[in-house]
Order: sequence, then structure tokens, then C-alpha cells
Amino acid sequence: MTATPPTPPAVALAPHERARPMARDTVRPARDLCSDCGLCDSRWVAYVRRACAFLEQRFEAMEAAAHGRSRNLDDENELYFGVHQRMFTARLNRPIAGAQWTGIVSRIGVRALETGLVDAVLCVGQSPGDRFTPVPVLARTPEQVLAARVNKPTLSPNLAVLEQLPGSGIRRLLAIGVGCQIQALRAVQDTLPLDELYVLGLPCVDNVSRQGLQTFLESASRSPATVVHYEFMQDFRIHFRHEDGSEETVPFFGLDTPKLKDVFAPSCLSCFDYTNAGADLVVGYMGATFGRQWITVRNPRGQRLLDLVEEELDQAPVTSRGDRRQAVQQGIDAYDKALKLPRWLAEAVGWVVQRFGPAGLEYGRFSIDSHFTRNALWLRRHHPGIAERHIPSFARRIVSRYRLPST
Ligand SMILES: Cc1cc2nc3c(=O)[nH]c(=O)nc-3n(C[C@H](O)[C@H](O)[C@H](O)COP(=O)(O)OP(=O)(O)OC[C@H]3O[C@@H](n4cnc5c(N)ncnc54)[C@H](O)[C@@H]3O)c2cc1C
Repeated sequence: MTATPPTPPAVALAPHERARPMARDTVRPARDLCSDCGLCDSRWVAYVRRACAFLEQRFEAMEAAAHGRSRNLDDENELYFGVHQRMFTARLNRPIAGAQWTGIVSRIGVRALETGLVDAVLCVGQSPGDRFTPVPVLARTPEQVLAARVNKPTLSPNLAVLEQLPGSGIRRLLAIGVGCQIQALRAVQDTLPLDELYVLGLPCVDNVSRQGLQTFLESASRSPATVVHYEFMQDFRIHFRHEDGSEETVPFFGLDTPKLKDVFAPSCLSCFDYTNAGADLVVGYMGATFGRQWITVRNPRGQRLLDLVEEELDQAPVTSRGDRRQAVQQGIDAYDKALKLPRWLAEAVGWVVQRFGPAGLEYGRFSIDSHFTRNALWLRRHHPGIAERHIPSFARRIVSRYRLPST
């Protein structure tokens, strides 16, 4: 059975619950590497020098503070997926209609409010005029959390709503967010007017500005204006869902790489926090087999969040199949040459890779290797002065396994 919450934006937000619009003409300390995480739109901008994920990388300190230790680089799973005490795949027995996957994230947010674990949930609603324009909110009711379901696949100024905390009565907060937002949040955590902070992370890669999203949709979909949802799935295809409920799939290998090379935000081209190292609990999909979500419990607080929904989950162990390494190396060379394959060849490559290529955790490692190598090269070419100190030690170890083109 499927739960059917109201279609967003069904819940009217009080003015104080809306984030202030971004002033994009403002110069940010991280300049072109800024990910619009929103910190600079709050009074916590005072901490930006040590909080901004693009000014200073502090993975080891962040992991130690949040989880009691940093990741063990000699353990392959920790090297790739970060500190964790548990990892498995799951789906909600009663999926939430309109969620990105089955809605585990929204359900945890709802239960955190219903059980009184927290007073508010930091999540991302959508603009009334444009479903893909993010509007961060401090949701105080389950309806507001449900209205924020589904990805807004664009840079979102989540931390701007920290500005609303003083005087709000919110003392216990569940923050949902992607890696760059969570790195900054962790850095200022001790200065926030909160008694409790729970962090529910999403893995994230290749995010875009709203304009960049438009370029992507126009290049990849047959009907960009009617796309309501999309995901790069584990079958090596992009799945677009349209307003009329129809589904369109496009092979990764058929993307117009020459056109899309510059579409991703520079922040994302220099990011190595794909798996959201600072979150208590991470809910994604890329380490799971097709159709399932991928759960990483990093610490006891993450388990406490999971406890809220665990009896509602159909669970299965993580699995792994294949060997990614050759495909990653070929991808590095092809990407650098900005090759665009003809559709028939892209379909053929996709067919082979889907049947015999990496799956489960090995797909997760394929995606991490591909993005870390691309990003290391991008940084060395575009920001040679900061590249080596910006690439964290775990990423350096992964990147060193491949042959990169010369800078
Ligand atoms: C920009 C982005 C990129 C992602 N990339 C990957 C990836 O490469 N690999 C992977 O495994 N998983 C990725 N994810 C996570 C994945 O797509 C799902 O969001 C996750 O599995 C939760 O699914 P769900 O059905 O439980 O979410 P839902 O219940 O639908 O909830 C989605 C949640 O996402 C939050 N959200 C929406 N847009 C944003 C945003 N722009 N920034 C921060 N939070 C937002 C909302 O507040 C909402 O709470 C990404 C998510 C986002 C937002």
C-alpha cells in the first residue's frame, strides 16, 4: 500500500519558516567554489573561514568529533564509505508517493517529530513557481516534512535557516542535508543555540545551479519542461519521470559530454564528500542493488534515527559484484577527450555494463572512483595552488590507484 501525502507545495509556510532568497551577486569567501550552502546568509558567516568546505578540508577532525574516531584508511569499506557501524539496503514497506526513492528520509523526519525526538526538521521544500528551485525550511509538522520530499537537484542554501533558530523555541533539531552543508553545520554545531542536533545525510555528487539543471535537462531529456523527478540509477541509465507519470530512460554513456562538461557546479567538481562523512546516518542508493535504498549508520545517534522507522523497513544485506577498475580507467580517458557516443553504441555499452558490470557496493566504488579522479584532475588544472591540501587523504589514496592524464 502507498501512503499519499499532499502534493507540494500544499503546506503554506509562515514567513519566518522561509529561507531568505539568495543574493547571488554577493561575493562569497570561497568565490567560484562556493556551493551556496547558506552559511554565509546567516550570522554564522562569522565562522566561514573554518566552516566552509571549500576553504578548508577538515575531514579527520569532523569525523573524530561526530563519531569518536576518523575513518580507518586500511579498511576498504571505511576508505570508501566513511566511518560506520552498520551498512545495509532497505525500502519502506509502504513507500511514500512522490518521494525520491521510497521515502525513508521523509519518514524518519516525520517520526522524529511525532515521537518528540526533535522540535523541527531542516529540510528542502520547493518554490511555488518552480519545482526544482529549493526552499529550505525548518519544518515543525509532519505535513511540512512530507511536502519537502523528493530531491531538488540544485544547490540549496540549507544553512540560511539557521538564522531563524534564535528565539524560535527550537532546541532539538534534525538536519537533513548533503555533504557540503553538513561539513559547515558540523563546524559551527557547538555555537548553535541547540541542546540536540541529529544529522541525516544524503550522498551527493554533480549538483548544479538552477540554470545548469536547465542545460542538463534540455540536453538529456526528450521533454525537459515536464520532468518532475530524475535519478542517475544503478542500471547505468538516467530515469526521468514526467508529469503524466511516464518514464524515460537514457544511457549514461549517451550523454552529451562536450556540452555537459561545464554544467556541474565548480563546488561539486572539487568535492570529495560524496558519502557525507559527517552525518550520523546516511540514506542514498548507489551502494544498493537497483530499486533499493542504501543505509549507512555511522554512530549511535544515527542508529537512534533509524530506530524510528526500522520496523517499517524491508531490509537486506549489502552485496557486491564485478570489478570496476577497468571501466573507471576507460571512463577517465573518455571523459578527458569529451567523447560523445552515438545513441546505438551508448545503448550497446550500457547493455553490457548493466549485465556484467559493477553492482551493489562495487557500483558505489565505481561511482566514487570516477568522480574522485575527475575532481582531482579538475582541481589540479583549475586550482593548482590549493589542489593538494584540498584533496583529503582518503581521496588521495583512491585517486592514486589510477592513471590520470597530464595536467
Ligand atoms: C542533490 C542531491 C544529489 C544526490 N546524489 C546522490 C548520489 O549521487 N548517490 C546517492 O546514492 N544518493 C544521492 N542522493 C540521495 C538520493 O537521491 C535520495 O535523496 C535519498 O536516497 C533519499 O531518498 P528518499 O526517497 O528517502 O527521500 P525523500 O523522502 O524524497 O526526501 C528527500 C529529502 O531530500 C532533501 N533535499 C531535497 N533537495 C535537496 C538539496 N538540494 N539539498 C539538500 N537536501 C535536499 C529534502 O529535504 C528531503 O528531506 C542525492 C540527493 C540530492 C538532494
